Amino acid sequence: WKNALPDLRGVLAAARTHGAADFLVYGEERVSFDAFHRAVAALMAALAARGVGKGDRVALAMRNLPEWPVAFMAVCALGAIIVPLNAWWTGEELAFALEDSGAKLLIADADRWMRIAPQAAGLPLQNVVVSRASGPLEGAERLEDLIGAPASWPALPDAELPPAEIASDDPAGIFYTSGTTGRPKGALGTHRNLATNIMTSAWSGAQSARRRGEGLPEPRPRVILLAVPFFHATAFSATLMGSLAGGSRLVLLHKWDTLEAMRLIEQERVTMTGGVPFIAWQLIEHPDRHKFDLSSLEAIAYGGAPSAPELVSAIWQTFGALPGNGWGMTETSATVTHHMAEDYLNRPSSCGPAAPVASLEIRADDGVTVLPPNTVGELWASGPMIVAGYWNRPEASAQTFVDGWVRTGDLAKLDDEGFCTIVDRAKDVIIRGGENIYSIEVENVLYEHPAVTDAALVGVPHRTLGEEPAAVVCLAPGTEAGEDELKAFVAARLAGFKVPVRIAFIAESLPRNANGKILKGELKAMLTDSVLAET
Ligand code: ATP
Ligand code: MG
Repeated sequence: WKNALPDLRGVLAAARTHGAADFLVYGEERVSFDAFHRAVAALMAALAARGVGKGDRVALAMRNLPEWPVAFMAVCALGAIIVPLNAWWTGEELAFALEDSGAKLLIADADRWMRIAPQAAGLPLQNVVVSRASGPLEGAERLEDLIGAPASWPALPDAELPPAEIASDDPAGIFYTSGTTGRPKGALGTHRNLATNIMTSAWSGAQSARRRGEGLPEPRPRVILLAVPFFHATAFSATLMGSLAGGSRLVLLHKWDTLEAMRLIEQERVTMTGGVPFIAWQLIEHPDRHKFDLSSLEAIAYGGAPSAPELVSAIWQTFGALPGNGWGMTETSATVTHHMAEDYLNRPSSCGPAAPVASLEIRADDGVTVLPPNTVGELWASGPMIVAGYWNRPEASAQTFVDGWVRTGDLAKLDDEGFCTIVDRAKDVIIRGGENIYSIEVENVLYEHPAVTDAALVGVPHRTLGEEPAAVVCLAPGTEAGEDELKAFVAARLAGFKVPVRIAFIAESLPRNANGKILKGELKAMLTDSVLAET
């Protein structure tokens, strides 16, 4: 595979071949592949005129708008480095990433610019371009003055892309990790890393075509409701690259709203959605689900966070759609494993086998010894999707990236056929008096209880044992289950040392970050404070 993959200019060339077909749908705005290509070419020329060239960092801070992928591709196709920022970040968090990446130009929506503007003076920014600003702008240009609004993109010239020399291993982006276990780290992704998604998404698409007992579906374009933010690794790599190359339509939401999502699934005949497990549960549990025609859904696929095994049959039974799961991390530019169809229905705890171009190994703590099948150890991954390293963090890079492999920080096992099961993040394992408790195992048992809709297990301090397991759960509206009942439920299914010593109840849902990950640090602090207050 070393030389077989194009750079992102090649991905754009593939996208152009889809012509007048809809690529992006956002409210009343519809952008064809052709109009998209024209907008990218126009923005490339405008960026080049502002001095953006090879290796320069350009930050992108906006919600899921059609401009997002235009900016992403324009920057990469110039040989510059795109820096997607988390749209949920505060002004300080945004400023940290702008400083850390040394971005010289920022493309932002009006809300994000309002957050950044007060601190812009201290940042390395030379130019700011803002989209959809309603009032006057100070210190920034309007994106619409550079390339027009989406409705006018079809009238832009059908120009060739401005020239740029790009090699497959040149950096394309700095992608910040979710910050679930600490401060976000910038993963330096190359053109090869991103382009690899064309192969992996074609492979997962072929798997999802194997609808149970129905043979191959009609060859029609995939319509994807993008339920997660574009800045999420799975969105800008697997979904965006796969759609550009494969001609899928992306339906965008300003922010996740379950009712609006169901309305759009019906209106656009969406064939696939998901992103993170949380989204799938929101659709399944919505009281007004029956009011919409969701029969176009062929697959609901997700990853990025552990999911309860029940979700697999719930998706199949509720929608007749195939459940799918993929494991990946920002450091692997999205998915490395993919799990679909009968394989997933039969092995609902697994996140699937490695993609054909990737390899997985389970290694002992020494980071060298490879462990036999069905043994839990640290997951290591390699393949053309593994990023070049962390931006500006030589020590963390040396620990994490070793001889073409990434040390994932996840504990997992591989079965005899290569199906991978994530058992926990190494940092989330609770060690109670020397006994390991994998939080996912206990959470999955809690999910089996009919009243429980959301569950997290975290360690709370104990004087002699070191740590003890405690759980935080949410119950479905109108159901009841007390602490003792849930403890007994776990005790009937797992060894005594794994039973949570206390269970706290939270209304609605557990705290999550923008990428749908439960903020265990917050829960741990909350439970630890209450334990300390009592002792
Ligand atoms: P940070 O590295 O900043 O602490 P993060 O690890 O949450 O944040 P991401 O790169 O977005 O940032 O997430 C990768 C992690 O998400 C993986 O290491 C793994 O723990 C989890 N994950 C991803 N996919 C799956 C999956 N299918 N099943 C279970 N866990 C998953
Ligand atoms: Mg991580």
